[in-house]
Amino acid sequence: MFPVKDKLHSVLDTLPRQVRLVAISKYHPADYIMAAYEEGQRVFGESHEQEIREKHATLPKDIEWHFIGHLQTNKVKYIVPYITMIEAVDSLKLLREIDKQAAKVGRTVKALLELHIAEESTKYGLSLDDCRQLLAEGEWRQMTHVQLCGLMMMASNTDDTQQIAREFDTAAAFFDEVKAQYFPDDDAFCERSWGMSDDYHIAIAHRSTMVRIGTAIFGPRVY
Ligand SMILES: *Cc1c(COP(=O)(O)O)cnc(C)c1O
Repeated sequence: MFPVKDKLHSVLDTLPRQVRLVAISKYHPADYIMAAYEEGQRVFGESHEQEIREKHATLPKDIEWHFIGHLQTNKVKYIVPYITMIEAVDSLKLLREIDKQAAKVGRTVKALLELHIAEESTKYGLSLDDCRQLLAEGEWRQMTHVQLCGLMMMASNTDDTQQIAREFDTAAAFFDEVKAQYFPDDDAFCERSWGMSDDYHIAIAHRSTMVRIGTAIFGPRVY
């Protein structure tokens, strides 16, 4: 088995106190998750509805699950009964559906708005202008069962660390903009979810509050 325990601790040892780790366990078996759980890790992220459903059913109930993948609106109802945070909200339609389904089960689900800043055209997420428009339209203010907690993004998949740093800076400046305009008195709007195995040190230097790390803890994924 991959040395999950050692890898987890070497990641945790480098994280400043204010940065939370979301251990990305997609495609990894339950015993890998348990190896991290036994070391005290409680926050795990998955990106497929079927897979997270099976893991949630069998693993300890005090795990805080984050959904980090692209979520189709017709899948929302399956995850809202137990999900803590949906990190990759990229449309008003999805936000509405989360609110609606969460209301049905009497829960409030935390959500992050996913920004598309990276140069790859294939990645999901809102452009900065689309995100501005979503917030300006204001429908989110009436939503009682979804709580906007911040922003999430992925940097470009490149070796150019300066470019990665610029993208994180863009996201951090955008966070300040929307925080000041829409959430100045809302302490819950505080998360900047950026940084993965290859770039989390850069992300931390650029004001990440939450890193999503898979490979560096669990090893390469077998698809
Ligand atoms: C898979 C994934 C991660 C983790 O990537 P690693 O390179 O394995 O750390 C982080 N964020 C998202 C959105 C992912 O899909």
